[in-house]
Amino acid sequence: MEVSSEIAVIGAGVIGLAIAHRLAHAGHEVVVIDPAPPGSGASYGNAGTIADYAIQPVGTPDVLRNLPSLLFDRNSPLSIRHAALPTLAPWLLRFARQSLPDAARRNAVAIAGLMAGALPGWDALAAEIGGEDLMRRRGCMYLFETEAGYKGAQNDLAFRRDLGVSVEMLTADELAAMEPGLPPVAGGAAYFPRAVFFADPGAMVGRLEAAARAAGVRFVTAKVDGLARNAGQVRLTGTGLEMTARRVVIAAGAHSKPLARMAGDRIPLETERGYHVEWDMDSPRLTRPCCPTARGFYFCPMQGRLRVAGTVELGGTEAPASAHRIAKLVEGARAFFPDLGVPDREWLGFRPSMPDSLPVIGASRGGDEVIHAYGHGHVGLTLAPVTAQIVADLLGGRTPDAAIRPCLPTRF
Ligand SMILES: Cc1cc2nc3c(=O)[nH]c(=O)nc-3n(C[C@H](O)[C@H](O)[C@H](O)COP(=O)(O)OP(=O)(O)OC[C@H]3O[C@@H](n4cnc5c(N)ncnc54)[C@H](O)[C@@H]3O)c2cc1C
Repeated sequence: MEVSSEIAVIGAGVIGLAIAHRLAHAGHEVVVIDPAPPGSGASYGNAGTIADYAIQPVGTPDVLRNLPSLLFDRNSPLSIRHAALPTLAPWLLRFARQSLPDAARRNAVAIAGLMAGALPGWDALAAEIGGEDLMRRRGCMYLFETEAGYKGAQNDLAFRRDLGVSVEMLTADELAAMEPGLPPVAGGAAYFPRAVFFADPGAMVGRLEAAARAAGVRFVTAKVDGLARNAGQVRLTGTGLEMTARRVVIAAGAHSKPLARMAGDRIPLETERGYHVEWDMDSPRLTRPCCPTARGFYFCPMQGRLRVAGTVELGGTEAPASAHRIAKLVEGARAFFPDLGVPDREWLGFRPSMPDSLPVIGASRGGDEVIHAYGHGHVGLTLAPVTAQIVADLLGGRTPDAAIRPCLPTRF
């Protein structure tokens, strides 16, 4: 179909939808293009936390020290599909460099800078899209199953405090009083009281889509296979798609790399594959998301179900879900709740991940007709409104409030 629009947004995940919604409200004509139903990618199956406390990059000196054992132990929370190793090697090298002390600290400071606007951004967005009933203001927790784990986390948590994160340390008894449904944990917990979680992230993204449509955003069902600049316009093509737009925003999550390449930018984007399993139940045992940090997943109490979501598998977007990874997730959940039966559903999603854990936001090297907005890794849900505001500022010719230099696509 032949379409034209002032702005085209490629990708209808939470990032693309938040951008489209913000731009439509600012008076722009916006078309969103996606071959899949809006919100059905990573934005559907995540842990639902607005995790403004998650300021640490994935790559830290601790992770670097343990990288070989983490990557090559197929049972660890961070693993790699060995067949993908040759393809992943350049990304892993960059990741290792970004995990050195100075780089990791710099990345954490930059992430904290973005996070400052996350909660106010969601408060405002949820009010605009009628999503307040899905917000749960009960904080989130990291669980430490051993005393050594609890003590070992103190430096990390002190560092977060220095960067503005609210965190309270809970003894095992205090934890038991706050989460009586949880079996006793020997270490204790870190409680992030300000954090918010969504009773159903898929439903929240659905509200965002509906609000974007109501604001005049048009949706086109197609995959963008071609992107080319042509006489001050950008031409997008794909099966059944012929489109021109004055400005284009690439927001295709983990699938953005080839689109960026067509725009003239080489971006080291990979995916950290993540899983969830769910058990339907009326009262999902916990009152807030709890993450046993050593296991790399969250127990998430959601509407009508307990979702257990997380872990990282490096291995590209093509390979099917790993039965082993799902079995490990179920086994980890049963370590706390042995009575859990066969999960009612399981899911694999693709986090769009950068070696420095910072998103890619900013104008293309080839010209500001194309703006990048992807690579949010573990915190894309959290940073969607912040990203939307930055992109709206860039397209409107304003300087964003947030410090975006560390996120620019030209940083590589
Ligand atoms: C297990 C797990 C738990 C997580 N927990 C949290 C959490 O608690 N809090 C948090 O903040 N974040 C969390 N995340 C991360 C978060 O889900 C992602 O960062 C976020 O959803 C990324 O959003 P996105 O819009 O960039 O990508 P997506 O939601 O994946 O959307 C990208 C869209 O682009 C479309 N697309 C791809 N290629 C093309 C193309 N060529 N043309 C057109 N469209 C295209 C896709 O079909 C898709 O709809 C979690 C992720 C996982 C996997």
